[in-house]
Amino acid sequence: MARMTQEERFMREAIRLAKKAAALKEVPIGCVIVHDGKIIGRGYNRRIIDKNVLAHAEIAAIRKACRVLGDWRLEDCTMYVTLEPCPMCAGAIVQARVPKVVIACMNPKAGCAGSVLDMFHEDGFNHQVETEVGLMGEVCSQMLKDFFKELREEGKRKKKEAKDREAGRHEETGAGMSGDHDPHDPVHESGYGDKTE
Ligand SMILES: [Zn+2]
Repeated sequence: MARMTQEERFMREAIRLAKKAAALKEVPIGCVIVHDGKIIGRGYNRRIIDKNVLAHAEIAAIRKACRVLGDWRLEDCTMYVTLEPCPMCAGAIVQARVPKVVIACMNPKAGCAGSVLDMFHEDGFNHQVETEVGLMGEVCSQMLKDFFKELREEGKRKKKEAKDREAGRHEETGAGMSGDHDPHDPVHESGYGDKTE
């Protein structure tokens, strides 16, 4: 295997975190923040498990990085994230003055680094964010596709299971009814049932 670049190493760590999210059945998104060549903040999506819309990978990583640096500003930091940030995270990135974000793959439905909006290059804001897109992008978009495919399949499986259970209940009820018939029921023994026509 070819030697990994420093950037690939950081993105790989973000991918490792994204997989932790997937293991919890969360959409796999992971993020690291690097300062002086060292990771000072890590995060992964925990929205469902934390029951909190703020529990995005980037927000968690920003929180930790701020704690390490003892500052709300994350100057001289680079963020590596597996998916293009949403409006909330893009806003936090601008607010924290993060100078550069490396994004693996874009999110056409919600991304705010150029897809739906480009909050990183908005002249009206007093801070612009340098972006780099596509580092290990294939790996990350495949990871998301696999996750959603598995989710759909699980949904189908559960639907089928519920249907089977429902059918099973009907069968049981049916069996229960026939079980109610006393084998010594005189009507049945006499065979009247067969002659009603
Ligand atoms: Zn977000």
